[in-house]
Amino acid sequence: MKSLLDALRSGKTLVSDGAWGTMLYEKGLKAGECPELWNATNPDKVREVAAAYIEAGSDMIETNSFGGNRLKLAQYNLADRAFELNEAAARISREAAGEDRFVLGSIGPTGKFLMMGDVTEQELYDSFKEQALAFEKGGADAVVVETFYAIDEAETAIKAIKENTDFEVACTFTFEPQQDGSFKTMTGVSPEDMVRATLAAGADVVGTNCGNGFEKMVEIIASIRAAAGDTPILVHANAGMPQAEGDRVVYPETPEFVAKVVPKMVEAGANVVGGCCGTTPAHVKALKAALGR
Ligand SMILES: [Zn+2]
Repeated sequence: MKSLLDALRSGKTLVSDGAWGTMLYEKGLKAGECPELWNATNPDKVREVAAAYIEAGSDMIETNSFGGNRLKLAQYNLADRAFELNEAAARISREAAGEDRFVLGSIGPTGKFLMMGDVTEQELYDSFKEQALAFEKGGADAVVVETFYAIDEAETAIKAIKENTDFEVACTFTFEPQQDGSFKTMTGVSPEDMVRATLAAGADVVGTNCGNGFEKMVEIIASIRAAAGDTPILVHANAGMPQAEGDRVVYPETPEFVAKVVPKMVEAGANVVGGCCGTTPAHVKALKAALGR
């Protein structure tokens, strides 16, 4: 297990990967199919995605496990395979990454709300703990808790990882622009509130992902930096708002565009930059070149 914090202490801006879902759909994943099941049924295709990001120059790649918590997998009657599918996700990314690059186990939200009584805190804790233990067995280096919007669920995820493994944890929330010009999650959490709560829960790295395209992330990064002190910031931006073009979904932000924006993201305080929905290995290459690496 390598330390992401050690690597960040050099002051170098690290480059993460881009979208996984977008790439898996291109490889034949059907709408309504469980992406994480592919870790068992199509491991070669999952490995191709991981390898494409390594080849593009990513210093770290994630795992195909964003929806891999047992509460989500239950929608496909796959809850009992949660450990196996998360372990496979980590192993596949590890094989592609080799020993020098980082593998970050990806944990997304469960889609259940504690405050609505959809789920108990213990159920959330157990499902995140299961993913973290599976990542450990599969050989990951750290965990990224991402696309979260509710503080209570994120706190539970961070604690479940920290109390049961030695992983460093990055936690990123998805914010939406508000009428007054500020940014909040769909449950009303500001970047400042997110930083305070997730650092208190034990996060090592904080940040934001998805929802806004690259350019709007600059403002969000600045808000996070103002609240986060010296804590490293990780950003996975999407390639703009998806647009329907015939029966295809296209993302407007090109590799050339993101290459122009990334220096502003770094200036605002980002320490790790990568892509979310709609980004590809070409975006990663452009980010890396724009950073002079
Ligand atoms: Zn995304």
